[in-house]
Amino acid sequence: MYNITVIPGDGIGKEVMKATLSVLDALNLNLNYTFAEAGDECLEINGEALPEKTIQLCKKSDACLFGAAGETAADVIVKLRHEMELFANLRPVKSYPGTNALFNDIDFMIVRENTEGLYKQDEEKYTENGAEAKRIITRQAESRICDYAFKYAVKHGKSKVTGVHKANVLKKTDGLFKKIFYETAENYKNKGIDAEDFYVDATAMYLITQPKTFEVLVTTNLFGDILSDEGAGLVGGLGLIPSANIGENGALFEPVHGSAPDIAGKGIANPLAMMLSAVMMLNYLGETEEAENLDKSILKVLKESKNLTPDLNGNSTTDEMAEAVKIELLKFN
Ligand code: ATP
Ligand code: MG
Repeated sequence: MYNITVIPGDGIGKEVMKATLSVLDALNLNLNYTFAEAGDECLEINGEALPEKTIQLCKKSDACLFGAAGETAADVIVKLRHEMELFANLRPVKSYPGTNALFNDIDFMIVRENTEGLYKQDEEKYTENGAEAKRIITRQAESRICDYAFKYAVKHGKSKVTGVHKANVLKKTDGLFKKIFYETAENYKNKGIDAEDFYVDATAMYLITQPKTFEVLVTTNLFGDILSDEGAGLVGGLGLIPSANIGENGALFEPVHGSAPDIAGKGIANPLAMMLSAVMMLNYLGETEEAENLDKSILKVLKESKNLTPDLNGNSTTDEMAEAVKIELLKFN
């Protein structure tokens, strides 16, 4: 049995969460859900966007599923990442049929350092005309993320990890990152994993000109943030993009999209980003077969293109799309 903390949150977060849980019911797994509050509505009701009770539940569970939070999103998720020490941010970039992906057959993973870099928010304003932001790079955090990326490559049958940096200009900080990247790579040579490195600007171009050559990318916090959104653009559509935040003792899975107030309450949100986040959760829990079955079911529904939500040019509802995925999933039983 797995204990899962479920935070539906605001707007379409609630809708895509409900749809996803209904699909997870069709798995051969004992998932024990505990529902918790966070987000705008929670702030209105409880006077705080992220109650201590929610944090404690998240820390205790095997994994968390998070829908979306509205205006409070940044506070909620940044605080949860910090409290749960979620050091790795994983953003898969994968093209699916029946979508607005710019290319077919793209399938790579961006592994982003989630705790330091420019996101330490160590800023100082000296005068009206000058300010400084510190970019913190430590061996501890960067070797942890590099090691995570190589381990991920081994576990998922990949053959190459690409380190992304700007060591030609940021000689001390990214010089250290590059050094640590290749030191880590040494430990994985005998496991058949190659290592290469590129400057971040060149990588931004290669993601467009040769996206199929990438397998796993690992990089520092801000570069990972920017490249992830470029990746999202490559495969098209916020409704399809999941993410994972992983720590030593916990993990949280969430769609990249927000609460989408413009379509909330209409029952037409695309539930696939949330479902694909659940696929990542199943993989994290070691339930790789169930994860694969769910992933294949989603692929089937996309390929058939009969039950798609409006963002994918269909006219189905969230629940109809979820039902179609569930029907496919039940065929594996
Ligand atoms: P928030 O303030 O919560 O981030 P937002 O207005 O930024 O909300 P997003 O959720 O980030 O909204 O979405 C941006 C756009 O993409 C909106 O037009 C929204 O309707 C659309 N969108 C996002 N997610 C989905 C989804 N799952 N299905 C369909 N459309 C979506
Ligand atoms: Mg948004």
